[in-house]
Amino acid sequence: MKLRKINSILPQPQFFLSWGLFLFSCLISYLSGKEFLKQHKVEPIYPSSALTIQKKLSDFFPALRNSAGDTEVYIFEGKEPGGHIFITGGIHPNEPAGFITPIILIENIKVNQGKIVLIPRANASGFTHSDPQEGNPQHFFIETSKGKRFFRLGSRLTNPIHQWPDPTIYINPGGQKLSGSEVRNLNRCFPGRSKGFLTEKIAFGLMEVIRQEKIDLGIDVHESAPEYPVINAIVFHENSAELAALVAMNMEAYGFKLRLEASPPNLRGLSHREWGDSAGILAVLLETPNASHGRLKGKPSISLIVEGMDKFYPKASRSGRLFVNYPESGIPLKERVARHLAAIISLIESFNELFPQKKIRVENIPNPAELMIKGLGFYLHNPQ
Ligand SMILES: [Zn+2]
Repeated sequence: MKLRKINSILPQPQFFLSWGLFLFSCLISYLSGKEFLKQHKVEPIYPSSALTIQKKLSDFFPALRNSAGDTEVYIFEGKEPGGHIFITGGIHPNEPAGFITPIILIENIKVNQGKIVLIPRANASGFTHSDPQEGNPQHFFIETSKGKRFFRLGSRLTNPIHQWPDPTIYINPGGQKLSGSEVRNLNRCFPGRSKGFLTEKIAFGLMEVIRQEKIDLGIDVHESAPEYPVINAIVFHENSAELAALVAMNMEAYGFKLRLEASPPNLRGLSHREWGDSAGILAVLLETPNASHGRLKGKPSISLIVEGMDKFYPKASRSGRLFVNYPESGIPLKERVARHLAAIISLIESFNELFPQKKIRVENIPNPAELMIKGLGFYLHNPQ
């Protein structure tokens, strides 16, 4: 009788089990919430002392103010007038060399003649989440002389918490019918819509930068999966064919071979097509091979993003399945950035050859060969 009474007072095993499960789910929610919020924290960029002015995209298109689509615009203007160049990275935030290249430029360059306008995180919303089912790390880091610089690895698409739901079929501003999720792919939304979806408004904002800053040449910096045919390539609008051919020749001086790819006129919504058609500027897009967003990759990791070493890509390369040679030693981020820098230097040299009346003179663009030796961290401001 007495024992039964004591048993009814003592906590039962179910009690411990339910509390245990409750505390475990609290811990999981805390850890995932922390990661979620971390992805929304914008990592600092430290512009060189030669920066003329830093603006926001909403200064060019006020409808973006206080929205997830607003982003930083860095303008370097020389004392002498000359040509105007626009460089975008992060139109696809899962392509690290695409945004590290403009960041390296922002932290180093000095423009003496002409103007360079840079937007390293063109789709700011895309940096706040990662691609589902890819297993990629949400951050990677680059060692500098005094500590690590962290960078977010985002998604190809705008975050659905900022733009949702997707239509079943997306008809972009150029009239092309695409699958619904492409409504969040910034590089299918040009020339944008001033009253459209958030991604279309970002595209419209970027067109406003081109118009208001009187841009002559637009360079959109990307990466692709190594199995994609348009790789180590310059995609050019037909108005930039001569420029692209000259760039391919000049790039050889830096030890890089460049594939020339004409922008298909019926493929609407892409930067190299619509910047040329809509704004009439010279327009090109650059691609390098990034194993971390390829379909053949093995284990996703920070090392795969930065060092580019993978078990399967060299095998695919040896059996002739790739459009690039993928060595066992990998294709590291520094090599992909060096290639983009060589292309940008060659674009400026070639532009100056073709348009001597609109000369652009820039100092302190890191030398691609030196960057391969010294590493990316040497050219990044140290976080301390
Ligand atoms: Zn891309």
